[in-house]
Amino acid sequence: MTSQSWRSLVNKKYQLSLRLFLLLNATSALFSVTNPLYSVRVLSLPLFAIFAISIGLLIWHWKKRNRKINIPVVSAIFGLLWAWQIVSKFELIRHDQSTYLIMALLTVLFKGSLAFVSNIKGFTLHSLPTFTVCLWLSTPDSWLRMAYSFALPMVAIGIHHVLQRRNDRFAQELLSRLLEERETLTDLSMMDPLTGLYNRRGLQNRLENLPTADNGEHFVLLLDIDHFKAYNDHYGHMMGDQALIRVSAAIRDAVRSRDIVARFGGEEFMVLLSNIPLEHARQTAEHIRQKVYDLKIPHMFNESVATNVTISIGIAIFENEDIEGALEKADKALYEAKHMGRNNILLSEELPVA
Ligand code: GH3
Ligand code: MG
Ligand code: MG
Repeated sequence: MTSQSWRSLVNKKYQLSLRLFLLLNATSALFSVTNPLYSVRVLSLPLFAIFAISIGLLIWHWKKRNRKINIPVVSAIFGLLWAWQIVSKFELIRHDQSTYLIMALLTVLFKGSLAFVSNIKGFTLHSLPTFTVCLWLSTPDSWLRMAYSFALPMVAIGIHHVLQRRNDRFAQELLSRLLEERETLTDLSMMDPLTGLYNRRGLQNRLENLPTADNGEHFVLLLDIDHFKAYNDHYGHMMGDQALIRVSAAIRDAVRSRDIVARFGGEEFMVLLSNIPLEHARQTAEHIRQKVYDLKIPHMFNESVATNVTISIGIAIFENEDIEGALEKADKALYEAKHMGRNNILLSEELPVA
């Protein structure tokens, strides 16, 4: 995903430079017809082709912004057309032939380096035909000048290309690290820092991606630690936190990995059992209750008989994606379970209808 959007950004940049290239070619062709330096004014076939193709492609590209033009092909075509143009005009020039050739080569190189400063392939394909033709037409005494003129921008673009690639790699790495970081932050923002369970936001997120109930039903369990205020008051908040951590782990251990466990508030938890028959849901709740009891966290100040930390659980069916309704029913069941003496489980459907 990231590397794809990165690619498309780079492509967009290339396509923009292609527009500049086309514009430069169109103006350059126009200028060539009315070149004041040489009295030979001809509207040759290659010039006409350069002008027509560049204007045509510019308009086409303007209208269909998302369509890509093959840059190597276009630059090679223009490179060949310019070489052809230089050959045909060369035949008409009588004086100062070597100056004409070097000027022509420089013009082509100038356009290439302007448009393809970060596209070494485009630059080479565009300027190589002209360079070859100029070498072929010129006398050996100007070969060195020609080679020098060609090598200079070539080296510059080559260096730029290498630097650009390094910058690109750096930026790409930075981007992927930022994305990783963002992912971690998103994960963290969905977790309760004390227990490592989902918080409400995480729960919401998981609920949105819940599979549809096909193999059984979904059940919502609301769990609340019994007499936890008394526990805190007598053992202190730190011990209270330790107890919360151990109870959370016991709940997590008692359910399947696909079940969702969230810390719902202070000492209240929610478990969502998905695709499970009623009887199994009830058994799971019993399993959780027993596991917490078996932690044997001492709690000597219970008003009731238990002398260790216990929980009470209210269960309700979660149907029609109505989480609020299910939670409300589970909460009523939990309230009743507390009333029945705590360390208890109650199913909402078993409550007497009010
Ligand atoms: P009940 O059996 O009816 O649930 O009684 P309770 O005392 O558990 O209920 P109550 O809601 O009155 O008290 C909940 C207590 O949980 C209050 C607070 O001291 C404690 N508590 C809530 N969140 C935390 C927490 O993050 N850390 C600690 N240590 N204690 C917490
Ligand atoms: Mg409580
Ligand atoms: Mg409570």
